[in-house]
Amino acid sequence: MTPEQIQHGILQGNPAVQRRAMAKAITLLESTRPDHRVQADALLTSLLPHTGQALRLGISGVPGVGKSTFIEALGLFLTRQGHRVAVLAIDPSSTVSGGSILGDKTRMEQLSVDPNAYIRPSPSSGTLGGVAEKTREAMLVCEAAGYDVVIVETVGVGQSEIAVHGMTDMYCVLQLPNAGDDLQAIKKGVMERADLVVINKADIDPHAATRAQAQITSSLRLLGMHGHPEHAAHNEQLWQPRVLQLSALKAEGVEQFWQSVQDFRQLQTANGRLARRREQQSLAWMWERIDAGLKQAFQQHPKVQALLPQVVGEVSSGRLAASTAARQLLAAQAGP
Ligand code: GDP
Repeated sequence: MTPEQIQHGILQGNPAVQRRAMAKAITLLESTRPDHRVQADALLTSLLPHTGQALRLGISGVPGVGKSTFIEALGLFLTRQGHRVAVLAIDPSSTVSGGSILGDKTRMEQLSVDPNAYIRPSPSSGTLGGVAEKTREAMLVCEAAGYDVVIVETVGVGQSEIAVHGMTDMYCVLQLPNAGDDLQAIKKGVMERADLVVINKADIDPHAATRAQAQITSSLRLLGMHGHPEHAAHNEQLWQPRVLQLSALKAEGVEQFWQSVQDFRQLQTANGRLARRREQQSLAWMWERIDAGLKQAFQQHPKVQALLPQVVGEVSSGRLAASTAARQLLAAQAGP
């Protein structure tokens, strides 16, 4: 398939052609060959006018909390209503070990055969920044293909959550009913980014779930009080993070979840924050990629490579100040 055929297939193809074109596009985007990158960038630019209509939903939670069960229940609920749902993943374990916490094939058995769903596992190599970049680009491909709900899933560990938060309109954190006792999640800054907290497995212990809901609700309120008042214009209607209970296994509470998502979208559209969030995300993404690109070019520069072992040795042994070393290396790269 030429890039033009791929573009055509994504925008206008029948379902089978479209799926093949999407797979080709994503493979092209993930290729490390420079000529492929040129084609991929041209493709992205041509698809871009057809993107942006979808709701981008981030979902995170520790392994075992029920993410795939929940996404399957939500996805099936949405496709029954006529939505087209794409599920993408960022799995940080895949960047370290090549193994994966998220990506195995048995997940979401029903949704994966639903003609109105598209499931793509995490890109499996590269830095987290690189994996996040591929996922963002895959998201644009899905949007151009007419998927109107894009779910980006990640495990509840550190940087990958920040990456998902940085590419979605709404960020949801799944919690276990007993997690309310453990306010670590809030302290770690995970929940303070959440637009919606979902207490899953409420069927196992409804009392614990209700207790957790109350605890997390009051903690979020406290965070909100100290939150980000400087960003709020006077009288501006702001979203208050919600806490819901749910049983993904029994598909109970999925409808209320979707209602909250719609309430969120409506409010964020009315107060202009949806557009602003995307704008900030795009610019942050651009600068993050520039940083990564500059660093890579720097490390590959012949003069830097020639000097680096010696300088590293001197810094390690304490003979050269780290800042002096950095200046020397930067000067070497910038020099004639
Ligand atoms: P993930 O690692 O976050 O994707 O979690 P999974 O979706 O694979 O779920 C882990 C386990 O929890 C599986 O055995 C699920 O069947 C189970 N599970 C998920 N949601 C629920 C729920 O709402 N109630 C109960 N009782 N079990 C659940």
